[in-house]
Amino acid sequence: MPDPKRASSGPGAPGGGRHPRFRRLLDVADGLFDDVRVRAASDHVESGCAPCRDELASIIALRDRVADGPLEAPPRAALRRASRLFVAARVRAGVAVVQRVIATLVMDGRMAAAPALRSAGDGRRLLWTIGELELFATLSSGSRGALLRGQFLPADDEAPAPTGAVRLVRDGRVAVHAELDDDGEFAARCLMPGTYVIEGEVGDVAFASPPFVVDA
Ligand SMILES: [Zn+2]
Repeated sequence: MPDPKRASSGPGAPGGGRHPRFRRLLDVADGLFDDVRVRAASDHVESGCAPCRDELASIIALRDRVADGPLEAPPRAALRRASRLFVAARVRAGVAVVQRVIATLVMDGRMAAAPALRSAGDGRRLLWTIGELELFATLSSGSRGALLRGQFLPADDEAPAPTGAVRLVRDGRVAVHAELDDDGEFAARCLMPGTYVIEGEVGDVAFASPPFVVDA
């Protein structure tokens, strides 16, 4: 599976420089070259970094597939449960302490269910924005349940990684509790299929994500 770490650190391209964030590669795919950071990301890919070139290619393949037509609908029951949980999460967010925010799902690689992408070993990628933070996650399946690896990234590329803790709540119960490491990363293993919410306190923000479904 792709390593979320690629998004912010690592040895970099032959020409030097850090790997751009996943988010910037999305912007490269969208051609948003007015932003100097997007141009830098594009230059980085052009300089010959293979992992970033592959990442960009898979983003473009995903975009093309989305543009091609209607997506497969999720199972009806999962959808109903998800919308109930979403309402519950909004209500909790509304009554909870200061600055509890609802994360916004920017991209869900669930759409990348194309056999070609799946056989390439791609995990499902998710990207949320939470206030000034971004949460990038990959979800992959294993023999003992799904593995979710996530990384919180500050809005400013040069800022230190945020600290805090998250909980994965499955069907209303805490399934996993994880502290962020020095890189703002966490891992949640052995996730059983179900409808999950990620919530927690990171930086100075308390947040909850909209529910998302983890398949078997
Ligand atoms: Zn790179």
